[in-house]
Amino acid sequence: MKGKTLFVQNSLTRKKEEFVPINAGFVGMYVCGPTVYSDVHLGNCRTFVGFDTIYRYLLYKGYKVRYVRNITDVGHLLDDGEDRISKGARLDKLEPMEVVQKYSNGFHAIMDIFNTKKPSIEPRATGHIPEQIEMVQQILDNGYAYVKNGSVYFDTIKFAEEKKVYGKLSGRIIDDLLTETRDNLKNQSEKNHPSDFAIWMKAADDHLMKWNSPWSVGFPGWHLECSVMSTKYLGQKFDIHGGGNDLKFPHHENEIAQNVGACDCTPSNYWLHTNMLLMNGKKMSKSDGNTISPEELFTGNSPHVSKGYSPMVVRFFMLQSHYSSTMDLTDEALQAAEKGFKRILEAQKILEGLSTSGNGNSEDADIIMNLDAMLADMDDDFNTPKAISRLFDLVTKINSYKQGSLDINMVSKETMDLLKTQMPEFIDQVLGLTTEGGAGSNDVSDGLMQLILELRQSAREKKDWDTSDKIRDSLNALEIVVKDGSDGSSWSFK
Ligand code: AMP
Ligand code: ZN
Repeated sequence: MKGKTLFVQNSLTRKKEEFVPINAGFVGMYVCGPTVYSDVHLGNCRTFVGFDTIYRYLLYKGYKVRYVRNITDVGHLLDDGEDRISKGARLDKLEPMEVVQKYSNGFHAIMDIFNTKKPSIEPRATGHIPEQIEMVQQILDNGYAYVKNGSVYFDTIKFAEEKKVYGKLSGRIIDDLLTETRDNLKNQSEKNHPSDFAIWMKAADDHLMKWNSPWSVGFPGWHLECSVMSTKYLGQKFDIHGGGNDLKFPHHENEIAQNVGACDCTPSNYWLHTNMLLMNGKKMSKSDGNTISPEELFTGNSPHVSKGYSPMVVRFFMLQSHYSSTMDLTDEALQAAEKGFKRILEAQKILEGLSTSGNGNSEDADIIMNLDAMLADMDDDFNTPKAISRLFDLVTKINSYKQGSLDINMVSKETMDLLKTQMPEFIDQVLGLTTEGGAGSNDVSDGLMQLILELRQSAREKKDWDTSDKIRDSLNALEIVVKDGSDGSSWSFK
């Protein structure tokens, strides 16, 4: 394993704990995926980029990881009781599965643009209805659920009294739950208690997505899919479960309850939660207009930003906050991230051209300490902001070697080679930062884009606007946006 012992902040115990996988060398990780009824917003992206970095670091350390991230395509209801997907279908006059496909495609495209690795398995809730029915039956058989008019409800009171785990993750005490009335589903009057939740719901006649079950023609409750799909692919007990911290309650708390209620086993050993994305200090929220889509951010087409920022700058910006801290998106912070990221890329280029005669080695210890510290920061609950600050220390060194304010011959050839391998490897493999141009880019496409932008630049210099506009419009037709800035042109996917 690269690095040293990994420690993670476990939401379940509220402690930073040594990470010990169930099977040495292997990690099973489940992350709650998007509900695909509308375009993903940047907050969602923050969470998935966060877990992508965690996934990447586990792989980098040498673990064999099975990363399961689901697609929620049924059962996640709005406050008025309407299924989110059905609402999307009704508004867009589409089949529910068209809605699911449309927004899954959009989600995947954005994930590619942010250079996130694809999960090992991406199961959909509607593909696992028989398994969900089976789990409802197990919970019923164990006495932790009851049937009312064709719907099945989880009996939180009985469960809490007998199992003593309800509320452990979210820190909610059952007395609080008793008085809570936030659950305003249409059919809540059927429940024995307000904190009980539906694991199977009888569908109204006009409901679009419904299946046969022993209790009614209906559909599964939202929390059930994650209980079922995580354990189906990772085993009854697995290593890591993740999601945004807004899911701690009720989603994750109820997930644990369902798994314990079905098989008497707590599903995941470590629960990791990402924190929320804010904009200008306030929670990003559609209803307040305090929102920006990834596209708006990339193109600069929003009152919240002064210009467009490339996907890799946005990813870099995201990694400058710890995944468990809130992250405030501001134009100034993005500008600073852009500058910082550019410095890193420039230093990487300079590093490629550095050579040492390797006479002295008084710099060696410093470089090696910095490289080790970067991994130590990642081993400390994936502390990307600290690791990035070490990276900047290395950047400063590289610039000093180039300028001669530090003698490059104080670095041995061996250490220079180590730096030349480890630093780019860390930036690329762990932080997932590719060179400018975003994901999907590779050396050839980067080179081609560079060439095209240079041709366009020379056309502009000759005031050959026809050619320069043609290049821009043709790229636009390929969903590539060219942005002209004071320091040249850059490009990104739309
Ligand atoms: P959803 O599509 O609403 O089911 O959410 C998908 C994932 O994005 C979940 O893990 C949420 O916790 C997470 N999420 C939603 N809003 C935000 C936000 N503003 N910041 C960070 N993560 C978020
Ligand atoms: Zn989930």
